[in-house]
Amino acid sequence: MEALPRTFVPDTHALLLDGKAVARGIREGLKGRVAALRERGVVPCLAVMLVGDDPASHTYVRTKAKACESVGIRSLVRHYPANASQSELEAQIEAWNADPSVHGVLIQHPVPSPLDEAALLRRLDPRKDVDGITPTSLGALLTGEPAFGACTPLGIITLLDAYNIPIEGKHAVVVGRSVILGKPMALMLLNRNATVTICHSRTRDLAAITRQADILVAAVGKPEFITGAMVKPGAVVVDAGYNRVAGRSGDVGDVEFASAARVASAITPVPGGVGPMTVAMLLQNTVRASEQQA
Ligand code: NAP
Repeated sequence: MEALPRTFVPDTHALLLDGKAVARGIREGLKGRVAALRERGVVPCLAVMLVGDDPASHTYVRTKAKACESVGIRSLVRHYPANASQSELEAQIEAWNADPSVHGVLIQHPVPSPLDEAALLRRLDPRKDVDGITPTSLGALLTGEPAFGACTPLGIITLLDAYNIPIEGKHAVVVGRSVILGKPMALMLLNRNATVTICHSRTRDLAAITRQADILVAAVGKPEFITGAMVKPGAVVVDAGYNRVAGRSGDVGDVEFASAARVASAITPVPGGVGPMTVAMLLQNTVRASEQQA
C-alpha cells in the first residue's frame, strides 16, 4: 500500500484523515485478489437492486458500479420502478441467493414505501450480504460471530486503523442511532474496547456529551450540525454525513469542518473522508464473499 499522506488542515493542528487515499490503497490490494479469483474461473459479481427514481440513489449506484469495474468486479444493476410489487422484488432476491455467479447483493437504500425494505433484507442470504445490514449480519456484531460488517462503520474503523488512531479505552461518542450507521458503529467501537455513548434526537444537552468524546462520530444527517464548540480539544472527529444543501455546490457533512478542525487532533473531510471508505468496504466484502463461495 502506498504511504499515507500526513496532511494537516491549514492553520490548525488537525491531521486530515484522507479516506480517499486509504480507499485507493485498499482498492489496489483488491485487484490482485480479484485477478487470482479470475484465474480460477471465478468472476466476482455484485448484484444491485435499485428501486425508484431517487437521484441520489442513482448516483450512489453508478459510483459503486464504477468502483466495482475499477478492481475487476462485475456489477449487475437491476432497476425497478417505484410501483414494482413486493413479491417481484423478493423473487429477484431469491434468484440472486440461488445464483452461484452472484457473490454479493446490495439493496440500495431507501427502497420507497410502501415497499418493505426490511422484508427484502430478511430474504437475503447473509453469505451474500456484502452491505452487512441484514438482521443476521447486524446480530453477529452483538454475538461476535463472523459476518460482513456494515460498510460505513467498517470503513470508519478501517480509516482510524490506517492512521493508527487508538480506539481501546477511549470514550467514543456516536451521534445518530440508525440501523445502517449509528448502531453498528457503536457496536464496532465497543467491540474494539472503546467506552461508547450513543446520542440521538432525544438526547439532552448533546454538547455536554460530545465535548467528552475522544472519538466523535457524527451520523446525524444534518448539515454542519456538530460545531467546534461541541468538540473536546484534541478529539478525533469523524464526519459520516453527506447532505445536499440548496444553493451550495457539492455535499456538506454533519460537522462544521472549519470550526471543528481548529479544535480536533484529526478530522475527516467531506468529501474524501468516510464516503470513499464505504465504497472500498463494499468492494472488499464482495471480494471476501467471492473467495468464501468459490
Ligand atoms: P438517519 O437514519 O436519518 O439517522 C439520523 C440519526 O441522527 C437518528 O438516529 C436521529 O435520532 C439522529 N438525530 C437527528 N437529529 C438529531 C439531533 N438534533 N440530535 C442528536 N441526534 C439527532 O441517517 P443515517 O442513514 O444514519 O445517515 C446519517 C448521515 O450519514 C447522513 O448525512 C447520510 O447521508 C450519511 N451517510 C453517509 C454514508 C457514507 O457512505 N458516507 C452512508 C450512509 C449514510 P433519532 O433516532 O432519535 O431519530
